[in-house]
Formats: sequence, C-alpha cells, structure tokens
Amino acid sequence: MAKQPIPYKIYLSEDEMPRKWYNLRADMKEKHPPMLNPATLKPVTKEDLKHVFCSAVVEQELNQTDRYIDIPDEIVSFYKMYRPSPIVRAYCLEKALDTPAEIYYKFEGNNTSGSHKLNSAAAQAYYAKQEGLTSLTTETGAGQWGTALAMACAFYGLDLTVFMVKVSSEQKPHRKEVMRTYGAKVVPSPSDTTETGRKILAAHPDTGGSLGCAISEAVEVAVNTPNCRYGLGSVLDHVVLHQSVIGMEAKTALDKYGVKPDIIIGCAGGGSNLGGLIAPFMGEKLRGEADYRFIAVEPASCPSLTRGKYMYDFGDTGHITPLMKMYTLGSEFMPSPNHAGGLRYHGMSAILSKLYDDKYMDAVSVEQTAVFEAAEKFAKTEGILPAPESAHAIRVAVDEALKCKETGKKKVILFGLTGTGYFDLSAYKKYNDGDMSDYIPTDEEIEKSLETLEPFQPAE
Ligand SMILES: *Cc1c(COP(=O)(O)O)cnc(C)c1O
Repeated sequence: MAKQPIPYKIYLSEDEMPRKWYNLRADMKEKHPPMLNPATLKPVTKEDLKHVFCSAVVEQELNQTDRYIDIPDEIVSFYKMYRPSPIVRAYCLEKALDTPAEIYYKFEGNNTSGSHKLNSAAAQAYYAKQEGLTSLTTETGAGQWGTALAMACAFYGLDLTVFMVKVSSEQKPHRKEVMRTYGAKVVPSPSDTTETGRKILAAHPDTGGSLGCAISEAVEVAVNTPNCRYGLGSVLDHVVLHQSVIGMEAKTALDKYGVKPDIIIGCAGGGSNLGGLIAPFMGEKLRGEADYRFIAVEPASCPSLTRGKYMYDFGDTGHITPLMKMYTLGSEFMPSPNHAGGLRYHGMSAILSKLYDDKYMDAVSVEQTAVFEAAEKFAKTEGILPAPESAHAIRVAVDEALKCKETGKKKVILFGLTGTGYFDLSAYKKYNDGDMSDYIPTDEEIEKSLETLEPFQPAE
C-alpha cells in the first residue's frame, strides 16, 4: 500500500478517543516504593489518604495492577468539549531548521485553561461531585491548574478555593480573573489564612511563595472543612493516569499513518504531562515490544531529576503530606521566581522518578533564555505562542532536530506542546527587553536543602 501523505494536523474522531485510562504502573516490573506516613515511616493506608482526597481518586492512586481503568461516560463527555487534541506535523519548523528530522507535537492548549491540566481536573471534580462533596481546595503555580479545576468545578457545581503562588498572582493578574469568572476564590500564597501560611511568612516574610507552600495551605483547609477535599494537578500517580489520554490519542493518531517516533520529549514540572504522553510508548518499552528514547526537560533553575536526589520527601513545604520517594531538591527548596512557572516544583512524579532511576528515561535541564529563543522560533514558524513550560520541550526537540542535520540521520521526534503562553506575556516582555536572567542554584544550596530530609529516610 502506498504510504499516505501525512497531513499538517492529524485529528481523531470522537469514536477514536480512549474510553479507558492506561495505568503504566501495571507494566512496571518493579513498582516505585510506597508513600509513607511521616509519623510512623510505614506505608500510608487508604484511610490516611481519604481525609485528603476523594475515595475514587485514592483507589486510583493506590492501584498498581489494573492495566486499564474505565473512563466514566460523563468524563468522556466532558473531554469531548475540547478533545481529541490534534497531533501536528511541524512541517514549517522542520523547514526553518532545514533538518531531515520529522517533528510532531501533541497540542494540549486548545481549551480555556490553556493546558493539558483539564484532563485531570475533569476527572477529579467529577468524582468529588459523585461522592457528595461540596467543595475542593487546591494550589496553583502558573495558574493553569487553578483555572482547569475552576472550569471543572463550575461544570459540576462545586466550590473551589485556589491558593496561588504569590509571585505568579502578581505576574499574572488576568489569570486570577479567569478563575474568578468560573467562580473560584483565589488566595495568594503564603497567606495569613492558614497556620502553615502564617508560619512560612514568619520565617520568610519576603518570599514569593512556592508550589510546596501553596500545597500545604490547600491541604490544611481541605482537611479542616466539612465535605471538602483537596485536588492536586500533577505529581501523583492518579494524575499521571488521567493524563494518559494524551499519549493514547497520540499513539492512535501516529499508528494510523504508520509513524513510529524515535524520540519522545516532554517538559517536566511534577511529571504529569510527560508521564501521560509517554505512557503507552513506555508500556511497549517495558514489555519489550518496542524501543523509544524518552527525554524529560526541566528548567536549570529547578533541576529535580538532573541534580536532585532519589529519596523520600514531602510533597509540600509545610510537611503535612505523606512522604514520597522521588527525585527531589528538598521540600524546603525555594526556586528562584523565574518564568518557568508550572515547572517550579521541588520534586517529581514517583513513577517517572523510578523509571529515570531504572534508566528507562533521560533528563536534561535547559536555561531560560535558550527556552525563550526556541519559543520565539516556534511561534514564528508554527503560529502558536507556546507556554514557557512547553517551550522547554520545544528547545530540546529543536536541538535534537539540529543534531539530525549535523549527522544527516533522520529521526522522528514527538514532543508535548502542553499549552499556550497568553498569560505569560510578562515573561515574553522580559525576553523581548533583553532582561531575562536565570538563577541556577549552587550545589551547596541543593545539599543544604536535602540534608533536612535525612530523618525521614526509612531504614533499608
Ligand atoms: C503545569 C504545566 C506543565 C508542567 O506540569 P507537569 O505536571 O509536569 O506536566 C507544563 N506545561 C504547562 C502548560 C503547564 O500548565
């Protein structure tokens, strides 16, 4: 059969959308170590988690064995409002780079939240409503997760309080208005409305906040409010599970045209988009059916995989969450307030951490100015103004395509374009004004932050 020409955009029909999430853990021969209760250093129980998350989410979080989990019809219907998302062949970028490489990207920015985060927000809000809860709390860094959860809560009729990292709320005042339009209450974090917030403010009065602190505040409010739970937008296994729709759609679309990627690239903040994008491909690799090279891209200012350590750490700065074994810079690490907003998390998904530790995946860190150069190139050639987070993946995709040009080898590159950058214009302004800088933490700073974790490591 003659090979079909590959269109600029490969869309799936609604019938081709996945009806099940793919649970990558089921194919991992070695699972990641369990979450621990910090008081006992024993694995957390469902009961421990059910104070914080709704029950369906806890079941999914602890499910390491079912390869597929049904997506309820109501969530599929919600997904249909903005999915399937296209796979784009970046013909124009390829031409501009004069590379023999084929470049594809999966574009998740086609919804008001501007990112992939709605894929998990839709599920988390649905389950909360099903279980009779009346409200949720959450944190947001760059604002995409807060917006996504605000959209989902508005749809299902739940109240939402969003603790927004203070620097982001100052850099992105318009984000806040989107969330408020969907009915969410937005509180800059650290705030004086929680015990943890007050403690952090007392210790660091000038702090711009961090995701770790906003998480502490949101969890504190959730566990102290009746019929309220907390929703997290990344890092945890159930979020990676929900994001598997990205990879499943991508794989179905590429399979249709007989395209097999050699390299799959994604930016990594807490690891959910990358985990979701690579899931079905990694599954094949784990089962020995195919081989791919996976690359996680993180900011040089917050390099958890490339410079952190694989150890137990808290998910938050206030140390009220369970301990997770992950690549981390330490939960007290305060990343510099740069513009990789959604990537400024101290730790990394336990699933991705384990896969990285077992050498199934590579990681690189990139500096901010180089990231914005790639963003500019991409905007000019492909037409989409990318989110700075997504531009980390673009940077490395471009670098890999340029390597193909040097070696004359044609590779097929797939990357995740997680979102759009319309709310990141203060970052683009800095770049355009030539004022962009990057603070890269020193080894001493990282070591100092990691030292505080020693008491929380279980005996071997
Ligand atoms: C949140 C976010 C990310 C990073 O989060 P992950 O959980 O690592 O996927 C990347 N891109 C965009 C646009 C985001 O909003």
